[in-house]
Amino acid sequence: MRRPVIAGNWKMHKFIADSVATALALKPLVANANHCEVVIAPVFTAIKSVADRLEGSNIRVAGQDCAPEQKHGAHTGEVAADMLRDAGASYVIVGHSERRQFYAETDSMVNRKVQAAIAAELTPIVCVGETLAQRDAGLAERVVKGQIDGGLRELTVSDLERIIIAYEPVWAIGTGRTATPEQAQQMHAFVRRIVAEKFGEEASQRLRILYGGSVKPENIAGLMAQPDIDGALVGGASLEAETFAKIVNYNAT
Ligand code: PEP
Repeated sequence: MRRPVIAGNWKMHKFIADSVATALALKPLVANANHCEVVIAPVFTAIKSVADRLEGSNIRVAGQDCAPEQKHGAHTGEVAADMLRDAGASYVIVGHSERRQFYAETDSMVNRKVQAAIAAELTPIVCVGETLAQRDAGLAERVVKGQIDGGLRELTVSDLERIIIAYEPVWAIGTGRTATPEQAQQMHAFVRRIVAEKFGEEASQRLRILYGGSVKPENIAGLMAQPDIDGALVGGASLEAETFAKIVNYNAT
């Protein structure tokens, strides 16, 4: 049985005070969400304050990125995975399409970040997904396979146990255009198949694969009903506590 994960990516939004206020507002709204792991990813500067205020709750904190380097040193502007852990994070988003698109992040950088996260005992949420042009050209599967081959290179089966993959079609991120549950399921099943080829069937059955791309309270239940969708990575709709809580509590009657 794969335990679902509902993760909110706050991107470059919210000062520390607002981050803490949103986290505190979320806390009682998801306190009974025993069916899933609840994760929020504030900006770096707010991680420690948010994590401190959430201590003892069922909400975990994620970084939105980490350095590919594991050894501390002369890497201006970077934050090491173990520094995120030190600040109270237990997950980290790696290879988000905005980082790939706007900050030239490559699969090999993603791979180093995944390894750094695992070494720091963080759970990496590794993002993959095709652009609209790639989908229209019939390349969606080839692109996603390349990102998985590159991003998970040289990992072991026991490394895989520590990883979550998020399938996020770029054309659905922040556009209001969600993949249909069937489109998402098809790609999730494909991801699981590739992972099975690389790491074995058993390991692939244990892997959590989240869907991301304009997830909202109105579409989460349909997505979660799919057999290979194990949760969601939520951007815009995670910024407001009530809305995000409705997504987390997708199974409430
Ligand atoms: C994201 O940034 O990972 C994302 C899925 O954003 P949104 O939910 O706003 O499409």
